[in-house]
Amino acid sequence: MGQSISCDLCGRNGEEQYCKTDSSVCLCSNCLKHTEASNEKIKECVERWLLGNVI
Ligand SMILES: [Zn+2]
Repeated sequence: MGQSISCDLCGRNGEEQYCKTDSSVCLCSNCLKHTEASNEKIKECVERWLLGNVI
């Protein structure tokens, strides 16, 4: 349980996922890069949106 982790942004799985322990959001390397490249405001919005979707 909890072994099959999929990207919270694009839904891809089977690849390395990077979980942000501070926000409990898991992103693949692509999406992580994307969010990291974005400024903090966008990053926050994305994480909020993801968390809102999960719940
Ligand atoms: Zn992704």
